[in-house]
Formats: sequence, structure tokens, C-alpha cells
Amino acid sequence: ASIFAAVEMAPRDPILGLNEAYNADTRTTKVNLGVGVYYNDEGKIPLLAAVKAAEQARLAAQPPRGYQAIEGNPAYNSGVQNLLFGAGSDIIAEGRVITAQALGGTGALKIGADFLQRLNPNATVYISNPSWENHRALFEAAGFKVEDYPYYDASTRGVDFASMRAKLLSLQPGSVIVLHACCHNPTGADMTDAQWGEVVEACRERGLVPFLDMAYQGFADGIAEDSVAVNAFAASGLQFFISSSFSKSFSLYGERVGALSIITASKEESGRVLSQLKRVIRTNYSNPPIHGGAVVAAVLGSAELRAQWEDELAGMRVRIREMRSGLVAKLQERGVAQDFSFVIQQRGMFSYTGLTAEQVEKLRAEYGIYAVSTGRICLAALNSKNIDYVADSIAKVL
Ligand code: PMP
Repeated sequence: ASIFAAVEMAPRDPILGLNEAYNADTRTTKVNLGVGVYYNDEGKIPLLAAVKAAEQARLAAQPPRGYQAIEGNPAYNSGVQNLLFGAGSDIIAEGRVITAQALGGTGALKIGADFLQRLNPNATVYISNPSWENHRALFEAAGFKVEDYPYYDASTRGVDFASMRAKLLSLQPGSVIVLHACCHNPTGADMTDAQWGEVVEACRERGLVPFLDMAYQGFADGIAEDSVAVNAFAASGLQFFISSSFSKSFSLYGERVGALSIITASKEESGRVLSQLKRVIRTNYSNPPIHGGAVVAAVLGSAELRAQWEDELAGMRVRIREMRSGLVAKLQERGVAQDFSFVIQQRGMFSYTGLTAEQVEKLRAEYGIYAVSTGRICLAALNSKNIDYVADSIAKVL
């Protein structure tokens, strides 16, 4: 018998399954709102002009392709730190943060999880309810028990902060708590600055290990503005983890550009932590690929390209906001009685619309509009050509 005879078919990834169904759909009016990708008004994934310029310069320079250091490109890693904490922050000056280039945000979470597993194998990891669908599987695959903490309240369409805080205050010391630093995926509901302050205090009080997932910096209010949570933890003096992803903010999805940063108690501790993190990386993939990190480092390191990138990032942010307010206004114009204004308050690419699984199925079957069965839609998949059709269709299924 084959050594694979007993291998069972794994369940399909729900979102990739949605994409397959969308691709197979022959209706010309079809719209895929199930994706987790930013599309421009032409419905295309943009190649940012700042990225293009940095790539052209790289190509022209014809750099050799030796191995990178295990922790990746130093200019890139320092650029990541400046984006997170602001150039000249104390935490950087004191040597209390180490950063390793990683394979996207997912790769950053994975090396962080593997390092944490060596540190404290019996810790439980807590993720928000609901959360990005890969959080649970990723931490479980690293060997952790994963549970959730209360987060989203469907009745207020916001964060059930009282329940969340009570849960945090009940956890065992050493528990790992995964937090979406901004633009919560999938709900679009973020905490207020004051609530972040309380989360920091709860982590301090209970001795929790915060792990901030920063996948959408710049998509809510701006680069510095979206660092509120990071900076609240930075100011606390606590130790914590941050995974960064530039998949969306640089539109570099397939180049796998991310980073893991670990904030320690001292420069001396940083040296020991980095040495162990390097062992984790070495036995996973040895060292990260060059291109994406070099491009981001070049953009961040040039005043001109950086300004251009910030403009382009702002363009993406503003377009998503326009789609939010546009959809709400168009639903209203179509006589929809239900108040959808919460869609304007939600942040980032996603909205938990409150559409039921049944309504989502009807949108797909009757109108060729694809959304996640939880009612999550990606606002960045709306554009000036499909928004009226989407509003018409939603109005009809409500
Ligand atoms: N965390 C969250 C919350 C995400 O939404 C995503 C991707 N959509 C990631 C991590 C992973 O990012 P990457 O594609 O860079 O691996």
C-alpha cells in the first residue's frame, strides 16, 4: 500500500474555496467581496509607484544574490522599527527592541510562536472572538492550546470591552494574548485609545504576554496614528511581541514582506533573545529572501520615495473610506430602513456587515456577489463600477 493511503483530504480553506467558486462563475456582473486584498478603482492589485521606482533602481544596480543574515536586512529591520515606534523613540535608542525580517506577517507570527513555545510550552494562547482565521491554526501548529477572549459584540457592532477586560484579568500569568494592533480582521471594530490603556494595565497586572499583530498599519488613520496600541505598550515598560506585515501597505502580497519585533527589558536581554530567535529561524528557512525587504528598505530610506509611498498609502485609505460612506449612502437611497452607518465607523479593509449566512448565500446564488458566510466583506473590493450593483443586490436580499 502507498505510504499515503491513510492520508485524509484536509478541509478546504473557506476563503480560498470562495475564490475558486468566484473564478468558476461565468456571470459578467460577479463581484468578489470575500478577498483580503486591496484592489484599486480599476479592480486591480496596484503596483505602487514608490515600489516600482525602488525595483527599477535595484534591477539597474544588479546586486549579487548572496545569503542574507539570519535576521534579514538591517536597513529593513531598522525601517520597521521606525514605522512602529517613530524614529528616535526611547525603546530603539535603549536597544530594547530586536527585529527579524520575516516571510510576511504570517511568517512573523510563526517564528514568534515557535520562540514562545520554547520559552513557555505550557502557556495558553488567547485570540479574539472572532479573529483572523489563521491565528488559531498557526498557534496550535506551534504546539499551543488556543482559546479565545470575548471581543466583538454584534448588538453594538463594537468591542465588548467589559467582557474582554474581565477575561484578561482572569487569565493565568504567562498566557499569550494576541491583539490586532489596528483594523481588526474580520470585524473592523477597534478599541479606543483609553481601552488600549486598560489592556496594557490588565497585561501588567496579570503578567500576560502581549503579541500585537500589525497587518494594516496606515489603513485606518495614518502610519503614526495607527501605532496607538504599539506605543501604549512601548510606554508601559512591558515585554511584548509585534508581527508586522507589509503585504497590504506596500501591496507586496506575494513577495512575503513582514517582520517580527520583540521588545525586551534591556539591551543585554535583547542580545540573548535575538540569539535564540536566530536559532528558530535557522531551523525553519535559514534566512529570508532578499527582494521584498530590499525594496521596502529602499522606499523607507529615501525621503522622496517615502513621501510618495505615504501618498499612495493615503490614497488607498481614502478610497476605502469613500467606499464605506458610498455603500451606506447608496443603501439609504434604495430605501433600506436598517441603519448601516456603523460601516463608516469600522476601520481597515473589512466590515462585519451583519448580513446573515442565508443573505450571503442569496447574494452569491442570485447576484454573483461573493462574501464570507460570517457577513464579512472587503470594502477594498468595491469600486465606482460595481458599488451600485452591490448596493442594489444587498438592498434586495435584506
Ligand atoms: N494578520 C492578520 C490580522 C491578517 O489579516 C493577515 C493577512 N490578511 C496576516 C496577519 C498575514 O499577513 P501576510 O499576508 O503578510 O502573511
